[in-house]
Amino acid sequence: MADLFCMESPLQVSPESLAGALDLVDDAVLLIDAIGRVRWCNRAFRELIGATTDVSLQGADPVDLLPLTVQGETIAPANHPATQALTHLTGNLIGELHLPSLKQVAIAWSSLSLVDPNDVVAVIFIRTLPSGEGLPVVENPLPGPPPPPDTLTGLAERSVLMDVLETTLKSARLPESQPDPLPLVVIGISLDQFRIIHNSLGQLDGERLLAQIAARLSSELRPDVLLVRLEMDQLALLGRGDRHWAIQIAELIQSQLRLPFRLGDRHITVTASIGIVVNVSTYDCPLSVIRDVNVAIHWAASAGRGNYKVFEPSLLRRLVEQLELESDLWRALENQDFELYYQPIVLLKNEQIVGFEALLRWHHPQRGHVLPLTFIPLAEAIGLIDPLGDWTLREACCQMQKWRTQFPNLPLSFVSVNISGKQFSQPDLVQQIQQILSETALPARSLILEITESMIMEDMESAILMLKELHRLGVGLAVDDFGTGYSSLGYLHRFPVEILKLDRSFVSSIDVDAEKVEIIQTLVSLAWNLGMDIVAEGVETAKQLAQLRALRCERGQGYFFARPQSARDITRLLQQMSPTQKVG
Ligand code: C2E
Ligand code: CA
Ligand code: CA
Repeated sequence: MADLFCMESPLQVSPESLAGALDLVDDAVLLIDAIGRVRWCNRAFRELIGATTDVSLQGADPVDLLPLTVQGETIAPANHPATQALTHLTGNLIGELHLPSLKQVAIAWSSLSLVDPNDVVAVIFIRTLPSGEGLPVVENPLPGPPPPPDTLTGLAERSVLMDVLETTLKSARLPESQPDPLPLVVIGISLDQFRIIHNSLGQLDGERLLAQIAARLSSELRPDVLLVRLEMDQLALLGRGDRHWAIQIAELIQSQLRLPFRLGDRHITVTASIGIVVNVSTYDCPLSVIRDVNVAIHWAASAGRGNYKVFEPSLLRRLVEQLELESDLWRALENQDFELYYQPIVLLKNEQIVGFEALLRWHHPQRGHVLPLTFIPLAEAIGLIDPLGDWTLREACCQMQKWRTQFPNLPLSFVSVNISGKQFSQPDLVQQIQQILSETALPARSLILEITESMIMEDMESAILMLKELHRLGVGLAVDDFGTGYSSLGYLHRFPVEILKLDRSFVSSIDVDAEKVEIIQTLVSLAWNLGMDIVAEGVETAKQLAQLRALRCERGQGYFFARPQSARDITRLLQQMSPTQKVG
């Protein structure tokens, strides 16, 4: 039966042409027409209800032919499998059939609603279960009324999940309630980029795809698991099981979605971000359950497509914190809560300061210092990176020009500014920099922009165009965190880059890892050959400095020389190095 559920394209053959084949199967098969009457039945169905071949069943009401009970309760016509199949509620059920002959047999039925109604709109399969073994017990069947279906997917709607949760949570709070033999679990399934798929395929195909997804997932789930449609692109399921079971289901869902769906002559695969809430019965209200499902989905999605996450309270705390930080970030720029710190970059041979890297600091009024790695991605996400990046560039250029004027005797040649991925893809970045340079009077060669390898590799051709334009402007370009992630060595000669900033991970292991030493050696020779400079990042010990010197690495930066400091502290440092200069 389950295999039939996996059909991805609508059944488009007539019942008559299927008759020969369906008469051979042992399962009773009933085809229902658009007005809910029997269109056709197979031989096994006639045998099941004791109808002879001379009686025409066409046009009969299936509810009369199949008097069903589930766990002793008579099934009302509205909740009858045939009615539900007709209203596109695809599902499974195990119950008892009370035949007019007073014969009582246990049956399992599955219904399949057809996407493309061609007179037949639903198929019901009925299997007689072995007698004497009693009814197979559905594990902790979920309470509540049978779900009204979502017409598109054939799935129950959000309200059904809410009702079932409400009833379950209420009964769990009753004083006489027993602890759950198996915890109640809700799994939220948010289809990644479904809106884009939906818009690019067109609404009809988008909806067909969703219907196929729903049908495929339903067929893979136990009959006692309730699958509902939560939102346009979100499904949820409610079942009983432990954390291990929930994770297995999440993995099963991911693997089912990766199998292609057929839409006309196209094959489409999808991924989903899945959020799991276990121990649902400890919750006070259904809305809190859904909130936590969504929190888990959010973190799953932020880890990339096709992930799942099991909810835990720290995820909610982190999300609330992130939302608060986001709103604080907007105010921070106006309130001047940002400050640029500067970390000296030195010549390794004599530790002389030749430039600085500008590093952004956020002095949060309540939280104190917030790290750039926390707030820069947020600033990118909320669209604040443009004004913030503009402020950073202006501030760094302005400060560098002040130092150049104030300390003309010192060989201060550049300030290095980090550029985020979003900034780098801004079409007007070149004009913006041009304007800042002209406003601050800093020569272009005194500004270095730091970009990462991943920013270049994401769209190499456009990146090269941008790099060339910046190069024409006269600013210096450096590849930050060099050596991590991408291996772009083969492409390096195509980038007009002058500096490779060797990632801290190489430097920190230089005195313990011979392999790393070899890699640094190779990178230094490569840089020499390409006419580039290497800046070693994160130099913390004298031993590392000695090793880097031996490797003929020219420049470095790190706590061993100086930590990032405020402009005021750097000014003091420069004054000490240049005692003849007046205080500015
Ligand atoms: P990064 O560009 O790799 O910056 C170097 C980071 O290493 C800085 O962290 C610096 O404080 C730290 N560091 C320097 N020397 C040492 C050392 O000897 N040991 C150790 N353990 N760390 C050292 P910070 O300031 O927290 O910045 C982190 C990252 O945030 C930066 O990594 C950069 O990617 C980003 N960032 C900082 N400022 C800006 C900015 O203005 N714009 C953008 N887009 N990103 C920024
Ligand atoms: Ca950097
Ligand atoms: Ca770096």
